[in-house]
Amino acid sequence: MCIFCKIVDGEIPSNKVLEDDNFIAFHDINPTAPIHVLVIPKEHIESFSDVDADLMAKMTPFIQDVVKKLGLDESGYRLVTNIGSDGGQEINHLHFHILGGGKLIWKHYQESDPKRSI
Ligand code: AMP
Repeated sequence: MCIFCKIVDGEIPSNKVLEDDNFIAFHDINPTAPIHVLVIPKEHIESFSDVDADLMAKMTPFIQDVVKKLGLDESGYRLVTNIGSDGGQEINHLHFHILGGGKLIWKHYQESDPKRSI
């Protein structure tokens, strides 16, 4: 069972922000912004590449509610989902990062293999 499925089952504790029948939002254990919250579906879905439109249609207002609860709707925030190896996905259970609480930097690419072009 993946680590986020264990959080869904309560086997691993999490610092929850909001929960409903389909989703949980909880604080990232290793925050990279003053506010760093993850939103996951309770169902195990590997990544954004595998999510269907019906679930995304429910996930969107849930994420918006989390943003409001965190007080980020006025100041702004970043919503990110990493997909696969190049995307930097470490946990293969769909999650959106909500990042905010201060000005965020915008930098993505680290040249590790000069033979590979983007
Ligand atoms: P990603 O690299 O997009 O797969 O992001 C995975 C995120 O999960 C990272 O930001 C981790 O800090 C976070 N994370 C890993 N384990 C936990 C946990 N037990 N509780 C909260 N966040 C976690």
